Amino acid sequence: MVLKSRWSFDIPQVSLPTYLFDSPTADLPKTPALISAKYPEKYYISVHTYRLYAQRLAVGLLRAGLQPGERVLLFSGNTLFFPTVMMGIIMAGGIYTGANPTYVARELAYQLKDSGAKYLLCAEGSLDTGIAAAQEAGLPASSVFVFDDGVATFEGRTVENHAPALGGTIRHWTTLLASEADGRAYAWPDLRTPAELDTVVALNYSSGTTGLAKGVMITHANYVANSAQQMWMSTMAADYAQRRPSIKHLCFLPMYHAMAQALFCVNATKMRLPVYVMPKFDFIEMLQYIQKYQITDLVLVPPVIVAMAKHPAVQNFDLSSVVKVGSGAAPLGREIAEEFEKLWPDRRVNVKQGWGMTELTCAATTADPDKVSRNGAVGELLPNCEAKLVLDDEGKVEAPRGERGEIWIRAPNVMKGYWGKPEATRETLTPDGWLKTGDVAYIDEDNEIHVVDRKKELIKVKGLQVAPAELEALLLDHPSVQDVAVIGITLNDEELPRAYIVPRTPSQATPQVADAIKTWLAERVSRAKRLDGGVVFMEAIPKNPSGKILRKELREMAKAEAEAA
Ligand code: AMP
Repeated sequence: MVLKSRWSFDIPQVSLPTYLFDSPTADLPKTPALISAKYPEKYYISVHTYRLYAQRLAVGLLRAGLQPGERVLLFSGNTLFFPTVMMGIIMAGGIYTGANPTYVARELAYQLKDSGAKYLLCAEGSLDTGIAAAQEAGLPASSVFVFDDGVATFEGRTVENHAPALGGTIRHWTTLLASEADGRAYAWPDLRTPAELDTVVALNYSSGTTGLAKGVMITHANYVANSAQQMWMSTMAADYAQRRPSIKHLCFLPMYHAMAQALFCVNATKMRLPVYVMPKFDFIEMLQYIQKYQITDLVLVPPVIVAMAKHPAVQNFDLSSVVKVGSGAAPLGREIAEEFEKLWPDRRVNVKQGWGMTELTCAATTADPDKVSRNGAVGELLPNCEAKLVLDDEGKVEAPRGERGEIWIRAPNVMKGYWGKPEATRETLTPDGWLKTGDVAYIDEDNEIHVVDRKKELIKVKGLQVAPAELEALLLDHPSVQDVAVIGITLNDEELPRAYIVPRTPSQATPQVADAIKTWLAERVSRAKRLDGGVVFMEAIPKNPSGKILRKELREMAKAEAEAA
């Protein structure tokens, strides 16, 4: 069965900058749009200023010699200038790629090399990591820039760093900015034809259904489509017009990831809605800001919902301003959602799920804003999307309504492919445009989609991607490891990576060796990839005759163990 969205509309055929800002010279609001949650009076950016900084950066990058399609990597937590950098690169005809700000040097170097980035903009607080990664990737000091948390930029101060390892001094990113007058005069290319709009603007990294992280090619057309589709759903809410003047968002999810990037660097700007920006997630600060700024709309990930439902500190804050809560990026149990909703005694706040994937730009489903959502579904297909549930790898056998299958999506927001990986692209995108998502779902009588399992390898830790293939490759280098398989296990509603390991000698199967392996890995990976789900020794990793790890068997084993415990 192929399910079509019940909505469709004509998606604007314009470039992403034109979609966001109308034109290089159109009058834009000068009211605060991106606002520092810490210093709201002092530091904020209007939509007008957002465009101007992006234009100034575009001119600067072009003067520095950036060629169409060249990649620029931004390695930073959230700042008010994060979106302007992304859009400046795109206005210049370049390709933006953002890396997880918690990455260690090895992980960053991988993305620098894989994307072939010409420039790296590196957070001031992560320069050691950035320099080590740039050195590994062969970038000279002249290609690396310090990206401050925004304060120095607002105050007109420049920040430099002497980096002998890169053979010189790293300049402040603002040295790339052209003057205001030159920025204002810059008209980005006016793209209109389908071929022009098929130009890649972003490489967002995702491991997809298998293997290591890959650059997901997102085009102008993808971005404009997905933003317009999501806006369609938000603005159709019966109370939208009445609520609009009071809507306020809080962004603590990382902007490098597809979800916060689309929602806060693009959609909120397009909708001219204010966003209070936090550099990163902090539970208590988040609660303080909700209360202080009377935040109305929250975009959460399941671990935050769990924390809010369970943490006693929540009772100390007034959350009565909250009207809408969305959840995505990982599965959300209905019981937890119910517990969370009890924070508002009259149950007037209803958690609405959306489901998406980096390969879908951001999202493919969302809950109908006017329907109470209590059945655990991830909502309905966004406008202009089609879905089918398939039972075989070729997509020929489809699951009937109500039965589970792998969900495939065909839609204008489906990525163009994986950067420099034609084979991985062919394995994920069919010639007739279907994206194999690797998620298992069923469709109910009301055309709502229920995501119930994951067929792919991917593990999601606190909403962040963890690719088992990466951890397995690293662990095979450990002297006590003969063979290994990594899977995600669920512990207290959280998914965590667990390694099943065949030791080199049976005598190594001890708690001490397990701890040593965990510590060894923790030194080589970012926080989310640590083996917090444990190390379990076994005699042989279950594999099929062609050597493919039978992850399903391991997952079932882990589940049985958890039930027995
Ligand atoms: P990412 O590309 O990092 O956004 O990760 C995409 C994956 O996260 C999906 O393929 C799902 O496995 C998972 N995911 C996202 N949203 C949901 C949801 N609402 N329910 C269950 N899983 C989700």
